[in-house]
Amino acid sequence: MYINRTVFSEEHEAYRDTVARFMDEELVPSHAQWEKEGIVPREAWKKAGDVGILLPAIPDKYGAPGGDRLFSSIVIEEQAKRGLSGPGFTLHSDIVAPYILAYGTEEQKQAFLPKMAAGEMIGAIAMTEPGTGSDLQSVKTTAIREGDEYVINGQKTFITNGINSDLVILVTKTAPDLGAKGISLILVEATREGFTKGRNLDKIGMKAQDTAELFFDNVRVPVTNLLGKEGTGFYMLMQELAWERMQIAIGGIASAESIIEETATYTKERKVFGQPIAGFQNTRFKLAELKTQVQIGRVFVDKCLELIMKKELDASTAAMAKMWCSDLNCKVIDECLQLHGGYGYMWEYRVARAYADARVSRIYGGSNEIMKELVARTFD
Ligand SMILES: Cc1cc2nc3c(=O)[nH]c(=O)nc-3n(C[C@H](O)[C@H](O)[C@H](O)COP(=O)(O)OP(=O)(O)OC[C@H]3O[C@@H](n4cnc5c(N)ncnc54)[C@H](O)[C@@H]3O)c2cc1C
Repeated sequence: MYINRTVFSEEHEAYRDTVARFMDEELVPSHAQWEKEGIVPREAWKKAGDVGILLPAIPDKYGAPGGDRLFSSIVIEEQAKRGLSGPGFTLHSDIVAPYILAYGTEEQKQAFLPKMAAGEMIGAIAMTEPGTGSDLQSVKTTAIREGDEYVINGQKTFITNGINSDLVILVTKTAPDLGAKGISLILVEATREGFTKGRNLDKIGMKAQDTAELFFDNVRVPVTNLLGKEGTGFYMLMQELAWERMQIAIGGIASAESIIEETATYTKERKVFGQPIAGFQNTRFKLAELKTQVQIGRVFVDKCLELIMKKELDASTAAMAKMWCSDLNCKVIDECLQLHGGYGYMWEYRVARAYADARVSRIYGGSNEIMKELVARTFD
């Protein structure tokens, strides 16, 4: 038993039931196959759109469920609990769509959000380049204005939903000589000439999620594809960082809780030296320590969720949550894998896949070293 959670209303919990049922029926049975294929098929996205799992926190006038960020948190939690690391729903729904909602023109919102909510259009965001990850200001991709068009040249890598993507928010320099002030966000449809998708990258985990290189070779888009104002891209990217980082924290705690539960069950069933391994003091103490730490993390995450709902969560607190929860999840999974013995190292066991899936959470969304920098700056 964990302490009762108080952040969600009855309406949220009803939504959780719908999400859970959908995932159990439509995603869980196929996930292992998608891991082999390296991608989640578009039909699964459309089904998710049909039941209202995509864009949970986008207003219903755009064909979306019209909920709040707690609805989004529920999708993240239920996915993490089941180890469904393939569908890139969260990036699509809670990173890409919010930029369009916040900074798009009404025309852009109407063109993209309803299709994204229906799962007919899959979104990605392309910041990282082969030479630039943490240091975003140094991106080299350029978008040079020629009349009523931008001409885009450059390369991106590690892009989630990259292969499936129909629409990419591209982080680019419209003023290449400037640093942060030269950055703009441009919406690029995958159908544009000169835009090509490279390899589906071979990762150590999150095997069912497509992660790709993207290439832009004299890609022309109309200036109406600019998101927000020229030169304000970096500012826009900074605005939603707290929520984006919380998404990793929320998934991390939900994953850790579920792995502990599964491990507790496993240790009761597995007998060694004539007794269940759950009977050894080491097992009991280890699970007790992990559960205690996860409970502490859970309370912190729920407090952050309350602050999100009040629009009061600051960037450094979100950085703490991202860092702490991703580190904790990796630690919990590692200890639980140990309690599984050799079976924990076998891909067919949930704990083995979780081990591989979780590692990236300490790297992406801003590495945990960058999170420490952000927290350290509060002392400056
Ligand atoms: C599976 C996956 C999915 C991803 N999805 C996306 C996506 O959808 N869109 C996208 O744009 N990007 C995506 N990324 C990229 C991800 O955001 C970057 O990998 C991440 O920001 C780190 O950048 P980097 O890989 O270039 O590492 P680097 O920036 O080269 O960092 C290397 C090491 O140096 C450390 N370091 C860097 N700067 C500092 C500093 N100032 N102080 C101390 N240490 C520092 C880092 O913490 C890290 O340990 C994804 C990556 C992966 C692996």
